[in-house]
Amino acid sequence: MKPAPDVEKVRFDVRRGIVDRSSAKLEINPFDLHAIEAAVRIKESVGGIVTVISMAPPHAEPALRDALARGADRAILLSDRRFAGSDTLATSYTLASAIKKLGEFDLIICGEKSVDGDTGQVGPEVAEFLGIPHVSYVTEIKEVGSESVTVVSDFGVAYYSVRAELPALLSVTKEVNVPRKPKFKDLMKARKAEIEVWSADDLKNVLDLNRLGLEGSATRVVKAYYALEKGREGIKVKGNEGIRKIIELLSSSGVI
Ligand SMILES: Cc1cc2nc3c(=O)[nH]c(=O)nc-3n(C[C@H](O)[C@H](O)[C@H](O)COP(=O)(O)OP(=O)(O)OC[C@H]3O[C@@H](n4cnc5c(N)ncnc54)[C@H](O)[C@@H]3O)c2cc1C
Repeated sequence: MKPAPDVEKVRFDVRRGIVDRSSAKLEINPFDLHAIEAAVRIKESVGGIVTVISMAPPHAEPALRDALARGADRAILLSDRRFAGSDTLATSYTLASAIKKLGEFDLIICGEKSVDGDTGQVGPEVAEFLGIPHVSYVTEIKEVGSESVTVVSDFGVAYYSVRAELPALLSVTKEVNVPRKPKFKDLMKARKAEIEVWSADDLKNVLDLNRLGLEGSATRVVKAYYALEKGREGIKVKGNEGIRKIIELLSSSGVI
C-alpha cells in the first residue's frame, strides 16, 4: 500500500521535478483501499494473515494504522533517507526485498496505480523481482485455491479470465470491490498497534545497498511542468468587415 498525498492539496516542486510529499497529509492511495479490502476478504473466506508494506517517510504511519483498522494484521513501514529519490525500479526493488525478508507468502495484492506517480509499474516490477506470475487490471477475484488464483482482468478491449499459480501478484482496479469503512473500535485498536519500521540496514541481507534511492534509480526527471490548457482568445467582429476578417483568419491558419 502506497501512502499518497491528498492530490487536491499537494504541491509540486517544479524546480526539482518531484512531488513535495511534506506539503500534504499522507493517506492510503485510493486504489490500495481496494487492494486491502481484497486481501481482507480472502483472509475472511480462506484464512491467512494480511501484511501491509509501505515504503514512505515516517509521517506515513497514520496511513498504515488506517490499513490495520481496515482488517490488516501487520504493518511494516520501510523508511530510511537512503530510500529517498527512488524511481519505480528502486521502489519495487526495495518492496520486493522486504517481501523476501518476510519469507513465504501466497499472494501479493497491489492497487492498479497510485494517484500521484500514476505509472502502474510498481506491482508488475515487484513480481518480476520475485520471479512470480502477475495479473494486472484485475476487476474480479473469482477463486482462491491452495495452488492457484483465478481472476478477471480488464484488457481494455475484452475481459480475460486468468488463472495464475501461487505465489502470484495481482494489481486490482477500483471495480474489484467496495472497500469497507473501518469501525470505531478497530480505529481505536489500530491507534495502539505496533507499526514496524524497517531501515535499509534491516534489509541488508536481502538486498544490494547500492540499488536503493536515487543511486539505484535508472531514470531521472529532467523537466516537469504543469499541463495547463491555453484559454480561448475571443475576437469581436462586425458586419461585412467582420466576415472578411474571419475568412482571412481561417485561411491564414490553414482551416480553409
Ligand atoms: C524518474 C522518477 C524520479 C522520482 N523521484 C522521486 C523522488 O525523488 N522522490 C519521491 O518521493 N518520489 C519520486 N518519484 C516517484 C516514485 O518513483 C513513485 O512514488 C514510486 O516509484 C511509485 O510509483 P508510482 O507512484 O507510479 O506507483 P504505481 O506503480 O502507479 O503504483 C501501483 C501500486 O504499487 C504499489 N506501490 C507503489 N508505490 C508503493 C510504495 N512506495 N509502497 C508500497 N506500495 C507501493 C501500490 O499498491 C500502488 O497502487 C520518482 C519517480 C520517477 C519516475
